[in-house]
Amino acid sequence: MTWFVAGRTLAHGLIQILYPNLCWHCRQPIAAPGSGFCEACAKAIFSDPFSSCGGCAATVGPHSATEKECPTCRDQGFAFKAAFRLGPYDGGLREIILRLKDGSREGLAELVAAQWVAGATATLANEPIDCVVPVPLHWLRRWRRGYNQSATLAKAWAARLRVPFLPRALRRIKNTKQQSGLSPAARRANIHGVFRAAKSIPLAAKTVLLIDDVMTTGSTAHEAARTLRAAGARRVVLGILARA
Ligand SMILES: [Zn+2]
Ligand SMILES: [Zn+2]
Repeated sequence: MTWFVAGRTLAHGLIQILYPNLCWHCRQPIAAPGSGFCEACAKAIFSDPFSSCGGCAATVGPHSATEKECPTCRDQGFAFKAAFRLGPYDGGLREIILRLKDGSREGLAELVAAQWVAGATATLANEPIDCVVPVPLHWLRRWRRGYNQSATLAKAWAARLRVPFLPRALRRIKNTKQQSGLSPAARRANIHGVFRAAKSIPLAAKTVLLIDDVMTTGSTAHEAARTLRAAGARRVVLGILARA
């Protein structure tokens, strides 16, 4: 059924080129051209209805003390020291993220990034960030997809914070198999050593904002953060579009 998906993707892409004032999600006309989403969808997709943990961005109860850690991340020993998200990996946000992965969707990724950074004004108020680094894809996967959605998101964060965007600070040197279906321990073993930090990019004593699209168990983000720390980064803050 790939031809059907490809055909549908192409048709949807053409609709957006011919009628840029239609919402990406519900395809109804939108009042603010260029925003990509109607007001109702933007509100439903880009606002988080839940509280989340400041340590791992997991959904937590409304009355939990969540500033630093939750029971989920307390024992994990993540190499990143704080985390924030746009929302839970669910509903419209999940649909958008799946769409970002199914082809060259840089334009849509830019619209999503704009919504994320605009709505997160207070998120990093107390966190002086020195640079922004995306979780990289292996070159083969990046070539197949045409772009790295995390890099598009990271670029928007760097522009918003007015700090350097460092897309080549990390390189993915192994093309690992998909993590889904593996246990948390197997995920960490599977991902260990897949990233390499560029020696030419100085990270010493820097606070790095690491950006990824989805976090499930955190093994990928942990490994990327661990590699940045090993290269000298003082602190890694993780920003993710959605937390599963
Ligand atoms: Zn809509
Ligand atoms: Zn947590």
